[in-house]
Amino acid sequence: MDHFIFKKGELYCEDVPVRKIVEEASTPLYIYSSATLKRHFEAFDKAFASHPHLVCFAVKANNNLSILNLLARLGSGADIVSGGELFRALKAGIPAGKIVYSGVGKTLDEIRYALTSGILMFNVESMDELDAIKNTAAALKKQANISFRVNPDVDPKTHPYISTGLKKNKFGLACANAIEAYHKASHMDGLKVVGISCHIGSQITETSPFVETARKIRNLVDELGRDGIDLKFIDMGGGLGIKYNAEAPPKPEEYLSAILPELSSMPQTLIIEPGRAICGNAGILVTKLLYTKDTGEKRFYIVDAAMNDLARPSLYQAHHEIVPVEETAAASQPVDIVGPICETGDFFAKDRPMPPMEKGSLLAIKSAGAYGFSMSSNYNSRPRPAEVMVTGDSFRIIRHRETYENLIRGEDN
Ligand SMILES: *Cc1c(COP(=O)(O)O)cnc(C)c1O
Repeated sequence: MDHFIFKKGELYCEDVPVRKIVEEASTPLYIYSSATLKRHFEAFDKAFASHPHLVCFAVKANNNLSILNLLARLGSGADIVSGGELFRALKAGIPAGKIVYSGVGKTLDEIRYALTSGILMFNVESMDELDAIKNTAAALKKQANISFRVNPDVDPKTHPYISTGLKKNKFGLACANAIEAYHKASHMDGLKVVGISCHIGSQITETSPFVETARKIRNLVDELGRDGIDLKFIDMGGGLGIKYNAEAPPKPEEYLSAILPELSSMPQTLIIEPGRAICGNAGILVTKLLYTKDTGEKRFYIVDAAMNDLARPSLYQAHHEIVPVEETAAASQPVDIVGPICETGDFFAKDRPMPPMEKGSLLAIKSAGAYGFSMSSNYNSRPRPAEVMVTGDSFRIIRHRETYENLIRGEDN
């Protein structure tokens, strides 16, 4: 069920009119539906029920504490890529024992923080990093649980910026080198080899790349088992796509029923790290139309949100559906929807059919719940937007709009 629907001619999030939320929280504004977040998390969790498993939400997709806390209460773990994300995940109540740590450039400080917190495992991406973890663990007299992130060289058929599992990408160890790496690591003090992990990319809209990856991982795990290296965890990463426009991605159930047959005979606990598929369609970015402008050549809608609030259209030419918050039957004509930032790249849509709209009316940029606020910046010294969580017929501000004072915090004159 879609929780962003029109009722009596205006857009609602669950049972609250978007207009009413804007009256209190102003624009630009991120609005999330808690029912959608819950439904998406449970879709993964339930589809996995037949096998020991852990769903580790990818914190980088949306790191708001309230969202992490909601997922924590549903039993989610976390996939983190920095010390800052570890701090957030722990603050939000995600147990350290459910946190896996990915990323190619973990610093010594971050490794120390993760070790003293007692995370489930480090997904190690290079032999240099392995050394750093081993030495840090020894200095702290701790044992580090590790998995290697292997790069299965599978084409995820997605945007090049978000494909990560090809040989030419910077992530993980090549399968060919993985066996040797496991043998080395299994003899090192201070380390406990517990798993294997992978992550082939993001916004993947078919099951075949995941199935191919699962097969390659299974073969590696079998080979390691024959060598006496028994793993406890198989981490299949994230990457399941969502519908932004005309895509028809598999549902979480379909994705899992495609890969589970490849892995169901394995005794390991399966981990997945979905980000976008849990929160992407659980959020919208609401913006106000400031001005319209007709150059003869083009018609522009200039809105109060910008690329600093939602970078995906500028960064990846990503398509987001954009709808007027008040429904209208008027005929549409193509417009460019642009923000106030001094960059030609500051747009949300180009030549998009939109109805005529009055200055001051509201637009909803859909599917903005993942890689939206979490990628936002203060470029052009723009305070970042507020975030609101809707639950049924009530809503609550879960991040206050930044003030000018926030913008200069930590700076000296
Ligand atoms: C980004 C990332 C994810 C989440 O990807 P989605 O496409 O949002 O599901 C999971 N695991 C790792 C290691 C990542 O870098």
